[in-house]
Amino acid sequence: MKVSANIELIPDQIAVQKGLKLPVMELFYTIQGEGTHSGMAAVFLRLAGCDVGCHWCDVKDSWDALKHPVMSIEDIAEKVAAFNCKNVVITGGEPLMFDLNPLTQLLNDKGFLTYIETSGAYALSGTWHWICVSPKKTKPALEEVLEEANELKVVIYNNHDFDWAVSHQEKVSDQCELLLQPEWSKEKEMTPRIISFVKENPQWKVSLQTHKYMGIP
Ligand code: SF4
Repeated sequence: MKVSANIELIPDQIAVQKGLKLPVMELFYTIQGEGTHSGMAAVFLRLAGCDVGCHWCDVKDSWDALKHPVMSIEDIAEKVAAFNCKNVVITGGEPLMFDLNPLTQLLNDKGFLTYIETSGAYALSGTWHWICVSPKKTKPALEEVLEEANELKVVIYNNHDFDWAVSHQEKVSDQCELLLQPEWSKEKEMTPRIISFVKENPQWKVSLQTHKYMGIP
């Protein structure tokens, strides 16, 4: 299945190419539910546009960038600053479809810590306090992005995904956190297998989508 993010059709294309404007699906204040920083309050900026095409994706509305408004990075920073929190998680969609240098520089200049959640399928841009790479089979992560990862978070949908997770272990640095997370619709089936795997391979940790248990976005 060919998935189009329609990035090339976004209005104001030159400003978008320069990273001065970005398509925004949503911007909200919540608790980071998963990964190393689970439990941490953070402003989430969900950029629109993704052509990775995971069949179990829970934010398919983000795929088509044309469905969402384009905002200037100044307007984004102003909305972020309305919340009493210095942590900003930039996710998607696939946020690295865009040049994130201007936005992250602006946010860093204003004292925000910038975190990214990416599939790693596009070249890294931006300045980051934390890089979470969650590689996907439909569009592999670039080795140069995996090398920079602070956190490797592999979604486990079936048994084969354990081998696939291990195949990525040698592509990240020794300091990188290694996390296995059950895909939500397979949570009951895969969580016990993840627990067994982590007990046998303690360099890996369990990550749960705790925001879904808490009923928050
Ligand atoms: Fe959905 Fe993320 Fe996969 Fe894109 S990379 S299809 S947003 S889960």
